[in-house]
Amino acid sequence: MTLIRERDGRRLHIKSKLMGESLVSKSFIEGLDVAPQKRLFPDVNILKIGGQSICDRGVKALPSIIREISECKKDHKILVTTGGGTRSRHIYAIGLELGMPTGILAKLGNSVSEQNALLVTMLLAPYGGIKIGHDEIVKLTSYFEQGCIPVMHGMPPYDYFAIPPAKGRIPLHRTDVGTIILADLIGARTCIFIKDEKGLYTDDPKKNPRAKFIPEIGAKTLIAKDQDDLIIERPCLEILQNSEVLTQIQIINGLEEGNITRALNREKIGTIIHKE
Ligand code: ADP
Ligand code: MG
Repeated sequence: MTLIRERDGRRLHIKSKLMGESLVSKSFIEGLDVAPQKRLFPDVNILKIGGQSICDRGVKALPSIIREISECKKDHKILVTTGGGTRSRHIYAIGLELGMPTGILAKLGNSVSEQNALLVTMLLAPYGGIKIGHDEIVKLTSYFEQGCIPVMHGMPPYDYFAIPPAKGRIPLHRTDVGTIILADLIGARTCIFIKDEKGLYTDDPKKNPRAKFIPEIGAKTLIAKDQDDLIIERPCLEILQNSEVLTQIQIINGLEEGNITRALNREKIGTIIHKE
């Protein structure tokens, strides 16, 4: 380790590429040479079970999804994340009326997605379901060695420090974002969003019957299209576009049996959004 004293003698630096930099300079970051990001768990598949789209349908949707995930376990390592759904929306609405800041709303949303993680874990328990927290990510190898299906709440742990959005106070980074960040973090094999529609349309198909289905699209193109509504949280697109390790995400209809298996086998079903 080389120590370097500034000319005026006041500061002592440790010699490195980042020495003396603000880490803000655009030109510095642009020119910085770094090792490519390692894919930590390249054989792990991330499946997000939607909150509103799946969990809130309870017995009408969850048992067949649980069965399919448990059957896929013999061929694939699966890490499940969960959304919040209707109860998150309810507490966000109350909080917004009462003037709560984004950080409080994010904290509330976090606990609702954790409720769904508990529920899904218990349904998966006979097949190895185990509820894990964010700190357990580093232990994934042992969970899979033991035949577990780890389940984590999807809400990213920004909590009180959630970034206030430009408009309104609903946290921008919710459970879809937590899921894709997790996929980027571990360099996952796949990142699959299980929802209640075939995939992405030009508009919300529940509200606009003329909405057209989009089987595949680039993240950059979709950002540029600036659609009024999307099937995944908007920041996911930029996270995918900037990822060093993810090449695509997939959105599938979990109400049709067999789709999870197909997506895990890399079949082009639902919508694929790829990094451009
Ligand atoms: P989750 O519970 O997984 O978080 P959401 O309910 O938040 O899912 O989002 C999925 C819903 O988004 C769909 O059920 C659909 O009604 C709606 N939606 C909005 N815009 C679109 C779009 N452009 N294409 C498809 N679905 C859309
Ligand atoms: Mg959602």
